[in-house]
Amino acid sequence: MEGKVALGVDIGATWVRVAVSDTSGEILAKNKEAIRTSGELEVSSQVIRLVKELIAELSFQEGDIIGIGIASAGPMNRQKGELVTPSNIPLEVVPLAGPLKDEFNVEVELINDGVSAVLAESRYGAGQERENIVYITISTGIGGGVIMDGNLLLGKNGNAAEVGHFTIDEEEKLKCGCGRKGHWEAYCSGSNIPNFVEMKLKNSKLQETNSRLIEIKKEGFDGFQAKDLFDLARDGDEHALELVGELGRLNAIGFATVTEAYDPELITVGGGVALNNPDLILNPIKSKIKRYTQNEVPEIRITPLDENNVLYGAIARALSLV
Ligand SMILES: [Zn+2]
Repeated sequence: MEGKVALGVDIGATWVRVAVSDTSGEILAKNKEAIRTSGELEVSSQVIRLVKELIAELSFQEGDIIGIGIASAGPMNRQKGELVTPSNIPLEVVPLAGPLKDEFNVEVELINDGVSAVLAESRYGAGQERENIVYITISTGIGGGVIMDGNLLLGKNGNAAEVGHFTIDEEEKLKCGCGRKGHWEAYCSGSNIPNFVEMKLKNSKLQETNSRLIEIKKEGFDGFQAKDLFDLARDGDEHALELVGELGRLNAIGFATVTEAYDPELITVGGGVALNNPDLILNPIKSKIKRYTQNEVPEIRITPLDENNVLYGAIARALSLV
């Protein structure tokens, strides 16, 4: 094939995904593999190999690459292009931009995956023609991205919208993946909802109803997942609905804090927990947010973009590097 290409890379908790696009941002081909994290340079080596496979598949030359955008959960050091004690990867430092720059001799930029997603929302999704938008992912973790007055917020190290680490519980009952207590993500993210359910059930005297949660409390919480709570709530389990409502109240505190901080006109929501349970997640937020913010409540909706949103944002960033 002829022409120039841009590359988008999405470093997730489980997968490394790479996409090649043309200069209009249209994805031409994608590649993914389970992430390998046994050494500091293993992730970048993996990305380089996946890129080379794609370039060969499409019959492009490495010299046709005009820029590479990498999106990952943080925290990160944007200037150095590396992750620093990332919550999803069991390594102290993960250099990403440097090794790719050395290999392909092009500009490479590392951004937070929530930042990448809000960029995609602004270019291709519900945020087109809007100047003040926030994207929030409720997934394995909780993250975000912000466009304010038309500007993408990055911050000095690239960690400007780490909303999952907003403190929502001053009593600090549950511990976050970052090691601190009381953070939003420690309560309402997919990986931590089971801890929240366990804490609530241990501290409550469940009435003798036919709630399945009473049996689970007796049997133990091994293997209990966020999905189980939402499935029970959908089946009408009284205590499960109560806990989903309480999670919704905590999410409302998070959304209210975001509203106070960034004054958005639109908050779009993605991530597996929200996408699989749109009503059970969004309805409690919408009904309770006003209790916690003095600002005008923004429109809150599920993102219309699919799981490729982070890749699209990374490509958009790569194209802006030209
Ligand atoms: Zn945290």
